[in-house]
Amino acid sequence: MPAKTCKYCNAPLKRDWIALNKKLISPELNEFICISCLADDLDCEVEDLEIKIEEFKEQGCTLFK
Ligand SMILES: [Zn+2]
Repeated sequence: MPAKTCKYCNAPLKRDWIALNKKLISPELNEFICISCLADDLDCEVEDLEIKIEEFKEQGCTLFK
């Protein structure tokens, strides 16, 4: 799979960030944004999203494997 980049700022995307896009926005997405653009869009902090990622992993969410 080719490396994906943020739709807004072109930052290379981590797998966890792509999973977070799918989880928080839509599982059908094919364009993704990085964690800092996502935080801007959702009007929250990057740290909040990092905590969310850990929570989803602990819940065993299949998107985060
Ligand atoms: Zn970005």
